[in-house]
Amino acid sequence: MAKWTQKKMKEFGLLDSKVHIMDSLLSYPVSRHLELNDEHGNVQFRAPLSEKPLEMDPTSNTIWRNMTFLAYTPSGEVLNKKLVYANYGKPEDFDVLESEGIDVMGKVVIVRYGKCFRGLKIMNAQRRGAIGLLLYSDPLDDGYRVGKVYPDGPWRPETSVQRGSAQFNSLCPGDPQRAHSEATTEQLCGYKPNEVIPSIPAIPISYHDAIPLLLSLQGDEVPPDWVGGLTDKLVYRFGPSKGTVSLGTNNTFKVTPIWNVITTIKGTLPKELDQPVVLGNHRDAWVYGAADPNSGSTVMLEVGRAFGKLVQSGWKPKRTIIIASWSGEEYGLVGSTGWGEEYANTLLKNATVYINVDVGVSGKTFASAATHSLGRELLKVAGKVKDPETQKPLSDVWDKQLGTLGSGSDYTVFLDNLGIASYDLRFMPFNKQPYGTYHSIYDSYTWIETQADPTLEYHVLLSQVVGLLALDFADLDVLPIELQDEAQAISQYVDELEGMHIHGLDELRKAVKELEKSAVAFARNDEVDNQQKNRILGLFERNLLDKEGLPKRKWFKHILQAPGLYLGYEPEVFPGIQQAFSEKNNTMLQQEITRAVSAINRGIRMLTPQNSGEPFVQAVY
Ligand SMILES: [Zn+2]
Repeated sequence: MAKWTQKKMKEFGLLDSKVHIMDSLLSYPVSRHLELNDEHGNVQFRAPLSEKPLEMDPTSNTIWRNMTFLAYTPSGEVLNKKLVYANYGKPEDFDVLESEGIDVMGKVVIVRYGKCFRGLKIMNAQRRGAIGLLLYSDPLDDGYRVGKVYPDGPWRPETSVQRGSAQFNSLCPGDPQRAHSEATTEQLCGYKPNEVIPSIPAIPISYHDAIPLLLSLQGDEVPPDWVGGLTDKLVYRFGPSKGTVSLGTNNTFKVTPIWNVITTIKGTLPKELDQPVVLGNHRDAWVYGAADPNSGSTVMLEVGRAFGKLVQSGWKPKRTIIIASWSGEEYGLVGSTGWGEEYANTLLKNATVYINVDVGVSGKTFASAATHSLGRELLKVAGKVKDPETQKPLSDVWDKQLGTLGSGSDYTVFLDNLGIASYDLRFMPFNKQPYGTYHSIYDSYTWIETQADPTLEYHVLLSQVVGLLALDFADLDVLPIELQDEAQAISQYVDELEGMHIHGLDELRKAVKELEKSAVAFARNDEVDNQQKNRILGLFERNLLDKEGLPKRKWFKHILQAPGLYLGYEPEVFPGIQQAFSEKNNTMLQQEITRAVSAINRGIRMLTPQNSGEPFVQAVY
């Protein structure tokens, strides 16, 4: 696939396309089993752990339907242990169990998907002493309680299983072993390789396989926010179970090469003035991955084809355009993180923007997230393209909610580690939740053709959005980055902190007000020439990095946002401040506020005309 992608780019006329190979630690499934036993230890139910083939979907009947596993979970056996239900597996869910007097120590925990990255559910469970974990897809989250299930509709059918990585992504993304790197995981992230992946066996299961297990749970009924969608079949209880469960996993770990494909369209600006625009999406998938990531790969190839046409007509971009096809994303952003770390020095000095596409099309609702300085440009581009269903400009049907980036895709290294303003662009289902065949055998071309985007028009539309954005960033005289919009968003983040009753924010509030003023003044200042303006616009985000990184996770260096430490996907704003507050650590809270104020002040200094020539990248990284 890497060679094929490279060949395509060259066919399009983009001749500078290279395969970037890096050694990485990956893991592969060999076998797994799961049984429910009665009080005497006799097997009552043996879970098939397999997805049923569908006649109308030809790729659903291959051996991969049996390979349901969680990457980076260890091999292990658990024999005859009690089972407990822990809702979504968030820290507060385990607090509820504790307050109910239910100890998970030495037990197997069953949790449902959603709200929190799967690896962190395992992290939260093993920290409380659980010795095995079962992760099931509840129909309330992406099954028959949301809509009709595949093949009658797009949602998750009875035997479908969500595979995925179990890496602790909020501590340290990328190869857990940094096999390709001279630096160690401990140097880069502050953790040893075995501290960023699970130590207990864990298995992902379908709701078909979860029902007998949930039926075996005894004890009190759970509170309403713990109740899933299977209420027509069972009563949700905390447990422990009447009988016991046994489970086993056999997974192999292997250091093996992975392949990124990096296609470069060289800009005409001299090297010292070049500010490259980086586009990327991943190529690896859990099974066939028609939506995740092939809808995104289609978009990137289409953008490559369009740029190839332009190049053949004699066009050259002002700024260099780099189109990356990442590998190893599903294991934990391995390819993009490795490349970002390898080229950190260059990227820190000159990269302008990173445009990410992952699951490009899994529905028809535009749901994008970005650094807030990039919002206005996206709105402009959305005004130029048409929503196929309504024939209205995309800007008219878009709710214009620009999400804050968390984690879970390849923009993470660019934004959170390198301070490069980023976009993540996608069309999602109506509820803006993960689609129903995510990471299963049913994420197939047939699913796209019959459910998500039968005419592929949303694939075309997203290609237009990505292409037009890249073209503007590469060619406009002044970069379309609006710092006053970002300053305003930061001010709203401070409101959020105040809403949580975090006190002592006066100095931060003052600094952010000052930043808002400076950003407005900067936008109006005609005396700064374009060269200087572009330098400031392209590098502004770097000011928000702190070279020490966030508390307990030094790889995450951006003070404004990070994935929640215990939740993983969802972003937290001012994560250092929030963490200190949640740990009730006043000294740390003071430190984190001071660090945030310093970062904002660096931004203000950069926007102040007499200082704007100062070198600063070295100072913050
Ligand atoms: Zn993906």
